[in-house]
Amino acid sequence: MPRRFYLTSIILLVITSAFLFGEDKNISNKNVTLKISWIPDVHTTWPPEMARLAVFHSFLNKYTNINVEISSTLKLEGDAAEGNEYLSIAGGLAPDVFYLYGRKIGAFIDQGFIQPLTPFINRDFKRTGKPFKGIGSPDNIWELVVNDNDIMAAPYMYYVMALTYRRKNFVMAGLDPSHGPRNWEEFYRYAQKLTWIPSKEPGTPQNVPYRYGFALPLGPGQGWHFHQFVWSGGGEMVQAYKRCPKCGTLTQSHVPFTDYSKYHIEIDNQKDYEEKISKYPKHEICSKCGASLDNVHKIEWRMVMNKKGGPEALKLYQKMKFSKWMRCDNRKDKRHKGKFNLEIDLSDEDIKAGKTISCPVCGKKIDLSDPKTKKRIYDGVILSQTPMNNNQRIEYGMWITLMSEVQPDNDSNLGVTYFPSIHGEEPVSFIAGHYLAMSSQISGRKADAAWAYIKFMCSEEAMKIRVKTLVDNGWGEWIDPKYLKLFGYNGIYKAIPKERIKFFEKLGKNSKVEPYCRGYKNVLTKELRLPIDLALDKNKREDPKKVLDECADHINTYVIGKLPDKVVKQRERLGIFLLMVTIVILFFVGKKIVNVLKTGAQKSIEGFGVTEKTFGRHLRAWMFLAIAVGSVLLWSYIPLARGLVMGFQDYKILGNSKFVGLKNFVSVFSNSDFYVFLWQTLIYVSLSIILGFLTPILLAILLTEIPKGKVTFRVIYYLPSVTTGLVTMFLWKQLLYNPTDGGVLNKLLMATPGWVYFMLPVATGIFCIAASLPTIKAGNKIAGTVIFLLGCFFASMAFFISPVREPLGWLSDQRLAMMCVILPGIWAGTGAGCLIYLAALKGIPDEQYEAADVDGAGIIAKLWNVLIPNIKALIIISFVGAFIGAFHAAQNIFVMTAGGPANKTMTLGLDIWYNSFLFLQFGYATAEAWILGAMLIGFTLIQLQVLNKVEFKKAE
Ligand SMILES: [Zn+2]
Ligand SMILES: [Zn+2]
Repeated sequence: MPRRFYLTSIILLVITSAFLFGEDKNISNKNVTLKISWIPDVHTTWPPEMARLAVFHSFLNKYTNINVEISSTLKLEGDAAEGNEYLSIAGGLAPDVFYLYGRKIGAFIDQGFIQPLTPFINRDFKRTGKPFKGIGSPDNIWELVVNDNDIMAAPYMYYVMALTYRRKNFVMAGLDPSHGPRNWEEFYRYAQKLTWIPSKEPGTPQNVPYRYGFALPLGPGQGWHFHQFVWSGGGEMVQAYKRCPKCGTLTQSHVPFTDYSKYHIEIDNQKDYEEKISKYPKHEICSKCGASLDNVHKIEWRMVMNKKGGPEALKLYQKMKFSKWMRCDNRKDKRHKGKFNLEIDLSDEDIKAGKTISCPVCGKKIDLSDPKTKKRIYDGVILSQTPMNNNQRIEYGMWITLMSEVQPDNDSNLGVTYFPSIHGEEPVSFIAGHYLAMSSQISGRKADAAWAYIKFMCSEEAMKIRVKTLVDNGWGEWIDPKYLKLFGYNGIYKAIPKERIKFFEKLGKNSKVEPYCRGYKNVLTKELRLPIDLALDKNKREDPKKVLDECADHINTYVIGKLPDKVVKQRERLGIFLLMVTIVILFFVGKKIVNVLKTGAQKSIEGFGVTEKTFGRHLRAWMFLAIAVGSVLLWSYIPLARGLVMGFQDYKILGNSKFVGLKNFVSVFSNSDFYVFLWQTLIYVSLSIILGFLTPILLAILLTEIPKGKVTFRVIYYLPSVTTGLVTMFLWKQLLYNPTDGGVLNKLLMATPGWVYFMLPVATGIFCIAASLPTIKAGNKIAGTVIFLLGCFFASMAFFISPVREPLGWLSDQRLAMMCVILPGIWAGTGAGCLIYLAALKGIPDEQYEAADVDGAGIIAKLWNVLIPNIKALIIISFVGAFIGAFHAAQNIFVMTAGGPANKTMTLGLDIWYNSFLFLQFGYATAEAWILGAMLIGFTLIQLQVLNKVEFKKAE
């Protein structure tokens, strides 16, 4: 994918001749170096990538005076890479040519990263009299690069979403491999027949792979794929509206039409486009008062996926995930022979009631109360999560593919078809483009070279090289037939079945491009995840219509829409009030800080005997100190102050940031998400503190009490800290949190006998209660009571915990996700924390223990009276550290769940990261960060005050 950076592929062209240069006379024979945001992998053996590399090389051969190098050597995958791209732009290391996918273009235009290509296209038109054709894309690919009478980028490829399946599996399931499902009902039936889990099918070899009917893409990309389903369900994601200048009513409109010939651009489907335009009324009028809207050019967008298409799509999702069914095991019966109609749909009620049903085909009685039968019941036809462990043998009956000029696999066993529409209507396909754009920071010869690069990459010449490379590597029959015909591969063209040619034509014709209105990126990556998660949550199974209504409402209010002025005013007042409260609190907190620092400074000055007279003698010390203070100021406090300014701006990376007053702060306070995320942050912090802060202390205390094998235990505990954070996360994600019954945790829990689930809490409770009584007797009333209550708590848990008998979803389970995100970090951090406490515990003088022994104190009394007072300062310091760390946590969460499911792990730290690095809303993100920071300062101050009262002791 073009978004990847390749560390190894810094390609420099050695200039062999100064006389050979390209057809562009504007580029002189002097060398120009172009920085590109992506270049192909030179070591590739995968034909599509080889094709891109071949194009790249032929560019270098043609324009020998242009050097090309990759702009960044950072190698990061996925969304995290985008953050780095922005940082490099901010640091003046912007590439000269950007590779962009559709929804990024809007943000790049807003931020002023790219410049119009219109002047270059016009110049070429004047010279040649020919319009710019590029790769020959349809109108909806060009649509999103038109901005204020300018063309901002050019497509170098586009792809269409298609449904792929393995013919072999179709045959095995008794399906006709010559075509795919034609409507959603059939789609579900196909998926059901293709689903096959060996453990549920007695008498089949258990080593055959798990097979699921369909690979439903869930996780961070789920919002994106959801579009295909909504469109196929006959709905739209967004709808364009025009606001009446007289009465303010919104009237349905359409995406503005563009006369591409005006820009000297030739689109691929001019005739179809004109036909589409002619279907809309020439004049638009207000639906309420009838006023003309012809002079209204501003379009307002609203989410409408909740009206049609969306609820149907989510219902299909739920059916694919929750439907209960099983196969009749009476396979030898003649009535089942050759028909493959073994699937029996079951209702939840019948299963619950343990009814006996009979197979509708052979009539065999099936007793649903029999545990053996129960084991054979399927839950839906999909794996609820994308498999995370490649070792597990999972196959899919059908899956979604992105098809560019070539099918991404040359397996002749594959069948490709369009995604079916709900009732078998004309299929709609998701179409999306990849674009090249020019940095706004270049001009003159460099810009000419950049244009030469863009033009070449989008040219028919480049496509011809691509197709040739693919044909040479045996991928000929998978190339879009129109290119085979165009470039004269008649032999291959004739060999392609007519049905496939038709399919390719159909696939491109009825296509929809993803919406690109303001804030839509946010909708795709964040907002759309919530309703899908809620509808697919095992315990909630929320009503599709209801969750989509709420989602559309929220997006229309906070993300893409505009609130009525009255509501905005109300919100503003609330925001300003909250801001004032924050400032007042901050003021008092600040005063306290100064006081604390003053008394602290006083103490230390007295301690060191520094007076004004002796100041000169300490000058040298102060000078050394100045370096440290200076660097702290420079690297920590100045960016902090700079950050505060950003909070009041509509910040643009490349300058021209406008001051917007309190707007960002007000929007933070008036967004309902903020409070939800704040609450989740508090949960995250509390859980992290309770577990991550107490565990090492308890471990350290236990270790000092263990008579033998201390070193071994220490090594065992410390080992996890050696692995880096991200590795730990992936390890947990792939092994322990594997959601299938093959996952380590699931296997363990499911194999644990039922009595353990009951006895473990009971035993722990009894132990605690037993330990508490002597403690209370010895005079430690508080400690004793706490332990007693803990004991009661543990014991009562026995009645709430039920044995795990089916695999848990872990990271996809809303109740467990937050805990699952926190645990790996604690596992990794406990060892290191434990060692520090161990060192502190060693420093406790033996006399204190001996004195306690003389008094006849038990373990808990010793703990309470000797151990804890001695390490109190350390406990508080690490508490402050753990506290602040937990508040900022974003990386762990992003890697594990990216904030899902249903936003249940979205904390403010992660939200700030999303808003700044993914959505480029730096002003909003900074305001959020400052509000979070203000709260942190308050909490930390309280902790510091406690710390200030504690006296430090030195270990002897
Ligand atoms: Zn009106
Ligand atoms: Zn049967």
